[in-house]
Amino acid sequence: MIAPLAALIRYHEMKCGTEGSVSPSRASEEFRLLQSIPPELQKRYLRVQKRHSISAVVPVERGVCTGCHMRQPPMVTEVAEEVYECQHCSRLLYDPDVAYEHSVG
Ligand SMILES: [Zn+2]
Repeated sequence: MIAPLAALIRYHEMKCGTEGSVSPSRASEEFRLLQSIPPELQKRYLRVQKRHSISAVVPVERGVCTGCHMRQPPMVTEVAEEVYECQHCSRLLYDPDVAYEHSVG
């Protein structure tokens, strides 16, 4: 199992990226990633993705959502492990430093 955050970012890249066409290996990777993403987070992602498309999942920088450029309150709503919801635009936020650690490990 990989962390929900890492799985979400990878899944989002596959959904919105331009890489390759649908293939059996891709389908199985999507399935594998979904197993690491809590159902509640999947629901939220699908809802936000409909509205914001490619910018549905964005990093937060110095407490500011890079999607809508609004500052987040000190206590942001945690959706799942290390995944937060923007209080202004509902995009899913993550700390880029944490995401980097996951991708290395
Ligand atoms: Zn925002």
